[in-house]
Amino acid sequence: MKAIFNLICVLLCLSISACSQTPGQTEKVPPNKKPSTNEDWKKVLTPEQYAVTCEGSTERAFTGKYWDNHEDGMYKCVRCGYQLFSSETKFDSGSGWPSFYDVVPGSKVSKSTDNEIGYPRTEVKCAKCGAHLGHVFEDGPNPTGLRYCINSAALDFEKK
Ligand code: FE
Repeated sequence: MKAIFNLICVLLCLSISACSQTPGQTEKVPPNKKPSTNEDWKKVLTPEQYAVTCEGSTERAFTGKYWDNHEDGMYKCVRCGYQLFSSETKFDSGSGWPSFYDVVPGSKVSKSTDNEIGYPRTEVKCAKCGAHLGHVFEDGPNPTGLRYCINSAALDFEKK
């Protein structure tokens, strides 16, 4: 009798855990909890957004959403919504990635050197949440001479 009771308990537990997960849907971070760990970000970002912003990977040139976007508006961090780049400083670099010659006035990005591809490059991250955005090079147009080469997957565009 006890064995049957145990079996029913096991079956009941299995069916409850099976129902709590919808197939093909990833578990979301509860709305009252801000994502902070990579595990949290994995639940709220697309695989490409996660690879770029959390793992520092680079989307393939000419494949992102924004490299050829010419609309007026604001480019925000895809993770935290921090305003990063304005369409006013966007220019066509021919690189296949959204390119800007400056950061939005009053906003900040953090910069550090990486040697991932054999020579030093300056990595750019969101100063607010630490998301990897792309790199900055000193071959941009006036007035700064800088070229912020940013992954579309790290950005969210808000049309003016
Ligand atoms: Fe951010």
